[in-house]
Amino acid sequence: MEKPGVWLEGPDGGRILDVRASAFDIEDYNEHFFSHYGLERLENLLRENKRKILPAAGVRLGPPLARPSKIICLGKNYAAHAREFDATIPSSPILFTKATTAMVGPNDDIVLPDSAREVDGEVELAIVIGKKASRVAEAKAMEHVAGYTILNDVTDRRAQREGKQWFRGKSVDTFCPMGPWLVTRDEIKGPQSLKMKFVQNGQVLQEDNTANMIFKIPFIISFISASITLLPGDVIATGTPAGIGSLRNPPVLFRPGDRLDLEIEGLGAQKNKITSRDSH
Ligand code: ZN
Repeated sequence: MEKPGVWLEGPDGGRILDVRASAFDIEDYNEHFFSHYGLERLENLLRENKRKILPAAGVRLGPPLARPSKIICLGKNYAAHAREFDATIPSSPILFTKATTAMVGPNDDIVLPDSAREVDGEVELAIVIGKKASRVAEAKAMEHVAGYTILNDVTDRRAQREGKQWFRGKSVDTFCPMGPWLVTRDEIKGPQSLKMKFVQNGQVLQEDNTANMIFKIPFIISFISASITLLPGDVIATGTPAGIGSLRNPPVLFRPGDRLDLEIEGLGAQKNKITSRDSH
């Protein structure tokens, strides 16, 4: 069973504040939470004396928020990746979505279905919306951000190609690891200058910096919210840098037993194992 917690960094490997034990009405980090001063309430909880705190060792981390109304992703938002993909640099953001049921925790297995034999991943900075955003100006956009997390945009490339529309290839169960934490906006002073890395079996496939996004966070929020309402808890994956496995020569695709290490500066790390359905 997943329940909301607050990660407390420490020399002992970390501890977790059990939120529901002290605030019974905080069901999860969902739309209601973000739109009812949830983050402020967590700050207050941290100051209380009667707190239930658990050692983090042995605890499985789920995604750092409850299922959002939507996960919007940007395609080709790093110039070098746009060039390796099909050589065209987009003049406005390319949007697609992942099914919210694809979400798993930061260290969960990524399970390859029998049909998927051409799968790779993409390290991305994900924005989590904290305040409803509709027709928001660029200058006001950051006020709508609750925080940031790492998102691995795992993709079945064959389904992506065959489908013309990307939804099926992007939405396979377990193909959206998120976390380890939702790091609140105040903790990340420069979201456009974070180092990021994707490592598969010890081989560095992607190594870049969020500074190299073509469309930056305020513009992205303004662009999307001009016609689509963003609700509290919604996720925007801001695109991936160059180096993805399927576009390498020879390609580096996911095989059962592979190990992934993803990292973004200030946001922690994900560690996943690739499995197949047969091995379950
Ligand atoms: Zn992506």
